[in-house]
Amino acid sequence: MTNDQLFVSPDTYVRCNGFVDQLLSDACTKVVTGPVTPTLDLNGFRKHLGQFTFEGPRPVHAVAAWVVAGLTDGVVHINHPRYLGLFNPTPTYPSQLADRIAAAFNPQLATWTTSPVAVEIERHVIRAFISRLGFPTESSAGHFTTGGSEANCTALIAALTQASPDYARLGARAFAGQPTFYISADSHLAWLKIAHQTGIGRDAVRIIQTDTAGCLDVGHLRETLEHDRADGCVPIMVVATAGTTNAGMIDPLPACAVVARDEQVWLHVDAAWGGALIACDDRRQVLSGIEQADSVTIDAHKWFATTMGCGMFITRHMQVLSAAFYASTTYMPSHNADIDPYVTSVQWSRRFLGLRLFMSLAAAGWSGYGEHINHTLSMGELLRDRLIQAGWQIINKSPVGVLCAVPPENKPVRAIITQVWAAGEAWASAARFQQRDVMRVCVTSGLTTRDDIDRAVTAFTSAASRVA
Ligand SMILES: *Cc1c(COP(=O)(O)O)cnc(C)c1O
Repeated sequence: MTNDQLFVSPDTYVRCNGFVDQLLSDACTKVVTGPVTPTLDLNGFRKHLGQFTFEGPRPVHAVAAWVVAGLTDGVVHINHPRYLGLFNPTPTYPSQLADRIAAAFNPQLATWTTSPVAVEIERHVIRAFISRLGFPTESSAGHFTTGGSEANCTALIAALTQASPDYARLGARAFAGQPTFYISADSHLAWLKIAHQTGIGRDAVRIIQTDTAGCLDVGHLRETLEHDRADGCVPIMVVATAGTTNAGMIDPLPACAVVARDEQVWLHVDAAWGGALIACDDRRQVLSGIEQADSVTIDAHKWFATTMGCGMFITRHMQVLSAAFYASTTYMPSHNADIDPYVTSVQWSRRFLGLRLFMSLAAAGWSGYGEHINHTLSMGELLRDRLIQAGWQIINKSPVGVLCAVPPENKPVRAIITQVWAAGEAWASAARFQQRDVMRVCVTSGLTTRDDIDRAVTAFTSAASRVA
């Protein structure tokens, strides 16, 4: 007998969806007018949670109501207009719809054969990015990933595979010496985990110092590369970051491209956040040089504001993807390196992630995304001005909207952030930039208004005044 809790009738489907729609709509209204930080009593919550012993059935709508209530009061709301935090924007409505549509069909994107329409939609979006990036359309390819980390991991695997045909078989032993790759001190430190995962080890990571602006120091990069070669190491890849996590700086892409070419190593641009600037015709020149990269990471769930996790990996060397990820089995319906995602990427079973970006782009167009980005940047400028008026000092100059703020009278940042979180009126994080503790703020939400900026600055300043 079919289990009617797990597989509902069309009537129940419609009724329950309507019920959840209302719940979510009420919850969203409550979230944006309430505190950014959790208010739930976690001890009480754990007791409740413990009552789910899974011994018998419960009505699914009641389970949904319980979960929505918990989330409403029990998480930091990244979809709040005064979440001025890490690179986690309020998700676009089309991407939320895409999640629901993908869930209903749950197409298997491992192969084109099983899901031709879904695979074609993803390829179409990737091709649009290839041409916007200025990559050669004939030889470039890419795919959706769960996020920037998977895309960056793909870049290292691709670079290693390109560097030695024996890497596939022998792993790190394929190289005459320690393989190395180069990231800046302000790059995303998932690179250490990635080195670990690929088997070349964390010692492969060379951390290049940054200049006074927080950008990769190209002179130091060249010196380190030469030194490593003299030592018998095998340099594989240079990583330039377009939008560092701490301070939103863009490494000198054209100069990094010159070094990579001279040294004959792979150039990867980690544009997880900053890559969205390609949507803005008046700002995309900030990324100039990106078109020379061997590969690029752009996260759709960062500034393109799709639901999490949705990233992209794009390379100008299409053939390296099939060399790196080829596999064939008798039980798969096909194994075609031109179109089957499971033979050109890390994942096997694959969710229809790209639909989120397709629907958002189709609904808003590049121009709509350009407006979104310009809006968040102009709110960021207002935030900068207001903080300065209130006695804060901004010590970075980011083209992608990140502010590193030193509090009035040099008060301790972490204590201030603790106060800000406790009050819940706004959200910011503590970070370090140029050896100083800073409050890191970034307008990421498309919903943030001038009034939100004023309220946030008042919250930051009053938190600072409560700290000795
Ligand atoms: C967010 C981010 C990453 C990691 O991406 P995830 O989507 O969190 O896996 C890598 N690099 C940069 C520059 C980022 O901003």
